[in-house]
Amino acid sequence: MAIIILVGPPGAGKGTQAARLVEQYGFAWVSTGDTLRQNIKSNTLLGQKARSYMDAGKLVPDDLLVDMLKAELSNHPKKVTLLDGYPRNAVQAETLSGLGELGAVRLALHLDVPASILSSRISKRSAEEGRSDDTPEKLKVRLDVYEKETFPILNYYKKKNLYARVDADASMETVYSRIQEVLTKATLI
Ligand code: AMP
Repeated sequence: MAIIILVGPPGAGKGTQAARLVEQYGFAWVSTGDTLRQNIKSNTLLGQKARSYMDAGKLVPDDLLVDMLKAELSNHPKKVTLLDGYPRNAVQAETLSGLGELGAVRLALHLDVPASILSSRISKRSAEEGRSDDTPEKLKVRLDVYEKETFPILNYYKKKNLYARVDADASMETVYSRIQEVLTKATLI
């Protein structure tokens, strides 16, 4: 199975763009953040363990996520899968590349947005969705985590020739057509 990973800071529009791609191209969509939120709602053991990290805007420890990731990826064995929110650090990038039998990363799509415009996007989402980690203080922590831990993994994919950057500081429509261009070039659509 081919995996497209979506990498970008909180508020870059990963979820919005993924939803459109799923609708148009029938991709499968695995969002570790959404699956964790469902686990919290259903009060599973994983949800109980993950909650305090998520509430603080920090990363949930890597080892808690491996089984969840494997289960999610095995749900869609034949489809191109958008992986949204994973990997978020170097250890997770290695874990994913070790899961070859469940899928291989074909592209790391970087939705690049300057940090300065993220807080207004996030406060809009906060009002619409009421996510408990969308407050200004937690956004700061999440941005920090993104810059220190997640952003560096883009280099890992550059070295493997799997990296593509999309300038995501534009309207949803414009960003979507830029993504379509990149996916066309990579023969993924
Ligand atoms: P998201 O919806 O992708 O912004 O994720 C929300 C929160 O879930 C993050 O701030 C983390 O606490 C947790 N989370 C989601 N994906 C991961 C991951 N790959 N590694 C660690 N924590 C994660």
